[in-house]
Amino acid sequence: MTQPVCLNCGTTNEQAPLLTLTFKGETQYLCSRCFPILIHKPQQLSEKLPGFHPAPPAPHEH
Ligand SMILES: [Zn+2]
Repeated sequence: MTQPVCLNCGTTNEQAPLLTLTFKGETQYLCSRCFPILIHKPQQLSEKLPGFHPAPPAPHEH
């Protein structure tokens, strides 16, 4: 059985809490340190998640 590791940085759940994600039917893990990247800079994760093509950042509209 493979140990869960952060898809972005490889941190194991021995080192930090990992959040479970599902994408295209596959379970992925992301550590708490990398979770903000998914929210704010998802483009950085697109190469880690095959098939993930987040929209480019929207211009600030306010
Ligand atoms: Zn991480």
